[in-house]
Amino acid sequence: MRTIDKIIVHCTAGSQRNTAADVVRIHTMPKSRGGNGWKVAGYHYIIEANGKIVSTVPETEVSNGCYGQNQHAINVCYIGGVDIAKRGLPPVDNRTEAQKKSLLVLLKRLREKYPTAKIYGHRDFAKKACPSFDAKTEYADL
Ligand SMILES: [Zn+2]
Repeated sequence: MRTIDKIIVHCTAGSQRNTAADVVRIHTMPKSRGGNGWKVAGYHYIIEANGKIVSTVPETEVSNGCYGQNQHAINVCYIGGVDIAKRGLPPVDNRTEAQKKSLLVLLKRLREKYPTAKIYGHRDFAKKACPSFDAKTEYADL
């Protein structure tokens, strides 16, 4: 079994209307067809705007969410995180109430399963806004 020491929160940085299936399709579609060409999707769990938690990669497998950290990480993502009405898609914390609830449920569950793992945002490892809020601080007490 892999050792999990990080739970990393992401946003899709796309439309809130996207589904988990849309995200997985883009990640795994060949580059020649406009996808990322990855073997597995970027996240273990994707939370849709309605709060639905979709499991997209088994926890026992490595997902592709955070360069350099994936080997020992569970990647969790909510759909959204940018203002698609604005030029340059600026980051915005547009988590729906349902997504906030589901994030809490999922992160609590993961913390129980991996008690030594800490919760981070993607931004703690890269020069990115992802997940458009400070996950490390918000979930420090979970
Ligand atoms: Zn990310």
